[in-house]
Amino acid sequence: MSTQATVPVVVVGAGPVGLCTALCLARHGVATVLLERERQLPADLRASTFHPPTLEMLEDLGLTGAMLEGGLRVPTWQVRQHETHERAVFDLGVLAADTRHPYRLQFEQAAFCQLALDAVRAEPRIRLSFGAEVKGLVRLDDAVSLNVAHPGGRDPLRARYVVAADGASSTLRRLLALPFEGLTYPETTVLATTTFPFENHLPGLSPVNYVWIGDSNYALLRLPDCWRVSLYPDPDEDPQAEPWRMDDPERIEVKLQRIVPQTGRYTVIEHRPYRVHQRIVPTYHSGRVLLAGDAAHVNSPSGGMGMNCGIHDAFSLAEKLAGVLAGGSEDLLALYDRQRRPVAADEILRQADRNRNRMRNTDPAWRRAELARLQAIAADPAAAREHLLASSMITGLRRAAAIQ
Ligand SMILES: Cc1cc2nc3c(=O)[nH]c(=O)nc-3n(C[C@H](O)[C@H](O)[C@H](O)COP(=O)(O)OP(=O)(O)OC[C@H]3O[C@@H](n4cnc5c(N)ncnc54)[C@H](O)[C@@H]3O)c2cc1C
Repeated sequence: MSTQATVPVVVVGAGPVGLCTALCLARHGVATVLLERERQLPADLRASTFHPPTLEMLEDLGLTGAMLEGGLRVPTWQVRQHETHERAVFDLGVLAADTRHPYRLQFEQAAFCQLALDAVRAEPRIRLSFGAEVKGLVRLDDAVSLNVAHPGGRDPLRARYVVAADGASSTLRRLLALPFEGLTYPETTVLATTTFPFENHLPGLSPVNYVWIGDSNYALLRLPDCWRVSLYPDPDEDPQAEPWRMDDPERIEVKLQRIVPQTGRYTVIEHRPYRVHQRIVPTYHSGRVLLAGDAAHVNSPSGGMGMNCGIHDAFSLAEKLAGVLAGGSEDLLALYDRQRRPVAADEILRQADRNRNRMRNTDPAWRRAELARLQAIAADPAAAREHLLASSMITGLRRAAAIQ
């Protein structure tokens, strides 16, 4: 790693957002150094939903074709009451005139990152370093100097611009002393995957289902070869129990048996607990450092929007950074903040919060009224289109594009 030259852009973090930022910058002709703390890409269970506009954007990086081949196209999703099988089913077909991809794609984040990594490796403008962790940052007049720890020691690395795509616990955000205001939801959620054929037992299931059950709720998301089940605490469980307590295989078994009772035990392939936060930084633009993805905003996974929002940041930011590096005004970087931050705050965090609160509500009368409201929207093509434009993140992107 050179200690002398100033590289145009250093991207910190090779999650989906960092990988996409580096690839987009390369498409604009900009050379980047991409630093990843881990020695290989993380493969933990995380995002599985790609929304229509994200699929359109990823066409530009040549990734969508392979994703469509390996993933599952989901034209409908639903909110349902477990005991009665009553449901409101939303059909993305009403978006046929709005997008080339009127469906969600169920495709694992880790598989997506692997595809993006292969594209990064094939791109001569990107220099990728694994095991390279940013530990320090010094602002200079015309550059930023990063202190990078790697297995051989520590080195400084100068860049004209730095993209902080280092995730929810962002080191760069901390080094910039940017607050990450918001809240942490009380409950620990457990994500479990199983090959059990729920579709043979629960009538009228869609590939994506948000379900009320008794005093609790669950979500069932289909992937090509398994179901992902999100399990939430019951009223008699301490919602704030340490994540490992909620991740207990016996608790998982009890909750799965409640969804579909069977004589044998469920085969659970993988399971992981996670806590959910809703937070956003006060600005995405801190001098020569730009924040993107989870480093800038985090929200409930309900609705599957966090990573999609970060990928949208990547495309917007790369375009603006390339413009500045080609001699354009630095105002472009302020425009990135003006376009992307309000959309995350007003469209994404707020919708995800509504989705999460809807499914955590246990009042039977409220649930009945909400289901009836959603059924009425789903049955009216104009209202359904409006609803799906927002939940598919198209409304937010249109709003961002109108901001100058
Ligand atoms: C259970 C679950 C389900 C989800 N489902 C969805 C979904 O369906 N759809 C959706 O859109 N979103 C979903 N999300 C959210 C999604 O996973 C995140 O929004 C996404 O991972 C954010 O990507 P990122 O690149 O910003 O950050 P990350 O994926 O966290 O990547 C950050 C990278 O930076 C590296 N790094 C950190 N610090 C440093 C450092 N100092 N130096 C160098 N490298 C560093 C890390 O090792 C990591 O590889 C889900 C999340 C969870 C937990």
